[in-house]
Amino acid sequence: MSAPGTPIAVITGASSGIGAATARQLAAAGYRVVLTARRKDRIEALAAEINEAGHQATAYALDVTDRAAVDDFATAFRTLAVLVNNAGGALGADPVATGDPEDWRRMYEVNVLGTLNMTQALLPALTASGDGTVVVLSSTAGHSTYEGGAGYVAAKNGARVLAETLRLEIVGTPVRVIEIAPGMVKTDEFATTRFRGDAEKAAKVYAGVAEPLTADDVADTVTWACTRPPHVNIDLLVVRPRAQASNTKVHREL
Ligand code: NAP
Repeated sequence: MSAPGTPIAVITGASSGIGAATARQLAAAGYRVVLTARRKDRIEALAAEINEAGHQATAYALDVTDRAAVDDFATAFRTLAVLVNNAGGALGADPVATGDPEDWRRMYEVNVLGTLNMTQALLPALTASGDGTVVVLSSTAGHSTYEGGAGYVAAKNGARVLAETLRLEIVGTPVRVIEIAPGMVKTDEFATTRFRGDAEKAAKVYAGVAEPLTADDVADTVTWACTRPPHVNIDLLVVRPRAQASNTKVHREL
């Protein structure tokens, strides 16, 4: 998978939402993108679309929580320019008193251990590139809590801490660590997944909000951060819609 001269970017969770938009934008910015997610048909279709647009993309079905599969995937890379740890999401919005421990475990596995698996497996290739970039898609949920959010907030805090700690530990190596923390982003699947297919509950998340962020808005910040000169490290970029002042203060026109 090494294309001489063309920097390679691996994107997890590229089958929808922010990951798919990031794949399109990094490809347009000149990266050869490697799309990963569990739904092979979706990433293959997106890779075909990107290639038809004259850019370079390949698809590789991968569950980031499967360490053996991640290690196997990583053997394909001698060098790697960018790893975007985007796979993740929320399950449920129950109070601490009644939240399902299984939801908490699954959120920790994908948001934290998935990021850990990918980062550990690909760090040697990122270092070997001479200018590697690790991006962690955390969330404003990783920076302050809200009622009903504890399981997701805890997981995204885990992702944030992973990024912060890794940056301390690898300083002096040619790898930078960038955390992108979006607020409300209206993507097709995030809220539907959170509410297990309940479209009505999912729609309420965005009800009355004039312009939530789009997947493209977030992909733009990821692409901007990755295309800064290598010595410039965007440690943390918090991006919210104008209508959202905090996780709990949202202007709704209802
Ligand atoms: P999304 O459309 O639901 O995308 C989630 C992606 O993660 C999908 O492509 C999914 O693909 C992938 N994924 C889930 N579990 C996986 C696993 N075990 N292995 C590999 N891939 C897995 O949601 P999104 O809105 O684009 O969110 C993307 C990221 O941004 C997430 O980390 C989310 O927590 C974060 N974020 C979202 C928002 C928001 O408001 N939407 C705000 C802040 C942060 P498959 O199902 O095909 O595997």
